[in-house]
Amino acid sequence: MESNNFNNQEIIDFKNISFQLGSNLSLVQAAGGNTSMKSDDSMLIKASGTWLSNSLKEDVFVEVDLNSIKKKINSEQDDNFSNDIISKNDLRPSTETSFHALIDFKYVLHVHSTSIIANAISFNSTTNLKKNLGDNFAFIPYIRPGFPLTMSMKKIITPGTQIIILENHGLIVGGNDLEETYDLLLNTHKKLDVVINKNLSFQKEPTSFDIHQYHLKNDEKYNLFKTTNEKVFSAFSKSFYPDHVIFLGPGIPSFETSQDALNFLNKLNDKNLNLPPYIILKRFGLYEHNSAIPAAKEMIDCFLEVLLRIDFDEELKPLNESQENELLNWDAEIYRQSIN
Ligand SMILES: [Zn+2]
Repeated sequence: MESNNFNNQEIIDFKNISFQLGSNLSLVQAAGGNTSMKSDDSMLIKASGTWLSNSLKEDVFVEVDLNSIKKKINSEQDDNFSNDIISKNDLRPSTETSFHALIDFKYVLHVHSTSIIANAISFNSTTNLKKNLGDNFAFIPYIRPGFPLTMSMKKIITPGTQIIILENHGLIVGGNDLEETYDLLLNTHKKLDVVINKNLSFQKEPTSFDIHQYHLKNDEKYNLFKTTNEKVFSAFSKSFYPDHVIFLGPGIPSFETSQDALNFLNKLNDKNLNLPPYIILKRFGLYEHNSAIPAAKEMIDCFLEVLLRIDFDEELKPLNESQENELLNWDAEIYRQSIN
């Protein structure tokens, strides 16, 4: 990546921090999360669909015209900013580019932190977040990522806001010093990083149940999915943040009996629809489709880490059907029709 607007050391440091974030699965999963760095006139931003964990080995950043994007944000013009690309690679800027441009700090780091998500999905989130973080953050109620999110942030944040918590989504941290910004992000994540549900009750099934094209995730790590705790079991089939919906579908199909699971899969097969990457059978646990893609595997581990950190005594606020639909468009409808 060559640029006249940043010096070489700045680019090296920025890529290093991006790699660190991308390699930390409790912060970034698959192509989620993004980082940016600004000069006076331009911004280096993660490209859409690329993985931060590849920051050091391939081109994952695009340089865009910052002033042009700022103008569009000021005039509330939704855009994919493909006409604002300065760099000469074939990449497109992240779908979350607009909020990076909106925030006036040199560095903006955005992650889907499992501890932040677990603490930003209940009706009581703001109270609980304040207990742990003090008043020094902005809270953005859930809204679809992309342009609507940026417009909502524009109304809420002030030039000094360094920590932004996105309900049902994640964390944004901004700052003018890269190391300090990175540390602030890690500290914010760590303050909320408490595992609550390690010892959920579950019964070990003496029998096994085979599901065609799936295998049971039987290592101890996935024991939580065997739970018979009703509150936790009912959370399996809900979705709490956008990437979950996009990579795993709207909730993990979860079944009380093996017959229910088979009926569901047969229906999908009859209609020639794709089978979901994961299903859950009560007491038996989590089944993974034999051809689940790496992004889905990172996303199920993310879900597990979030579930381990949720306070199930709180009233939870999963994404509703229309919020899921706007993330998936009509695909969600086809999927739902096949279930119902
Ligand atoms: Zn995001």
